[in-house]
Amino acid sequence: MATEIKTAWLQWIGCDSYPKIKDYVDEALTLGISKKITNAGMAKALVGEGNIIFLAHDEAVHNPCPDCIDEATCPDCRVTIEHITTCEDKIDFYEDKVEEAKKAGNSKGEKRANHAVKAHTKELENLHDKIKNCKICDGGTKKVNISTGGYIEFANGKKMDRVSYQYYSRKPEVWRKLIIANGAPFDDGVTCLTCGGVGYIPEAKIFGFFIPSDIEYILVGDEEETFKKEIEDKKIKTVITTKLETKRGCGFRKPGSFYAVTKTDSSSDSVKETLAKLIAKGLIKAENAEVSGNFCNFVEPIKVEGIKRFRGLKKWNLDPEVEEAFDMAIEALEE
Ligand SMILES: [Zn+2]
Ligand SMILES: [Zn+2]
Repeated sequence: MATEIKTAWLQWIGCDSYPKIKDYVDEALTLGISKKITNAGMAKALVGEGNIIFLAHDEAVHNPCPDCIDEATCPDCRVTIEHITTCEDKIDFYEDKVEEAKKAGNSKGEKRANHAVKAHTKELENLHDKIKNCKICDGGTKKVNISTGGYIEFANGKKMDRVSYQYYSRKPEVWRKLIIANGAPFDDGVTCLTCGGVGYIPEAKIFGFFIPSDIEYILVGDEEETFKKEIEDKKIKTVITTKLETKRGCGFRKPGSFYAVTKTDSSSDSVKETLAKLIAKGLIKAENAEVSGNFCNFVEPIKVEGIKRFRGLKKWNLDPEVEEAFDMAIEALEE
């Protein structure tokens, strides 16, 4: 009896834990897959037959978003401008110290402070030179046409592109100054829907799929009996300890978390059947697929444009662009 595919999922593999697709595939082939599932509801949805999880990775390759190109502050000069502000603050600070030391008749202190003023003045010159010689905005115009990610608006009506906003909001010192000068930004600033406000689109590659052989829950040890019974009823397996497990690219498995796992030794009919459908539809060439247990690896990953990066696992609701590239896959799976 052919396995019915009920739901296709897409899971993103992060570059932090696995810089290259190969890193993930190598681990999957030796240890099997163990992919963390964000929550209990999702874990339950993944139990039983009919779930296929495609795996995506961008290998840190991304392209500027074409839908939000606009004039914005040069990203290189933005950093330099920030250094200039800090440097100017320091010069002010040490100039005050010079005066203080003078008044107090502290010649040693005066000398030291003067030295600091000179050093920072020199640094300031270098920073201005850096802007003049900036290659990105060509000679210090400080403006460049880039993907802005959309805009946010401050209380005083001033606009800031979202890419800068994301940069500055992670720098408490600078951010506080911006808030003082402009008021807090409105929450409903316009984010570019294509890139989600980051200004780039990852070059996603689908490098394989797997069909979970089990859904596991790692016990913390203090779970309520009702909770344990509930997940057992849902056919989720409990794991008492992970002490003897090998460390993975993403670290050790965490108590209190759910995982979709595959074994390396079982040869699964459902993976082979699914693969056969993809091959029959001409989506994957037979020689491009390597099956190991419940995992099928595409030797040549399939590039798919238009997938926004996300964390965890999501039901693969294809957006139109992706659909174009991958509707065949879904068709193949539904038949
Ligand atoms: Zn520049
Ligand atoms: Zn965009």
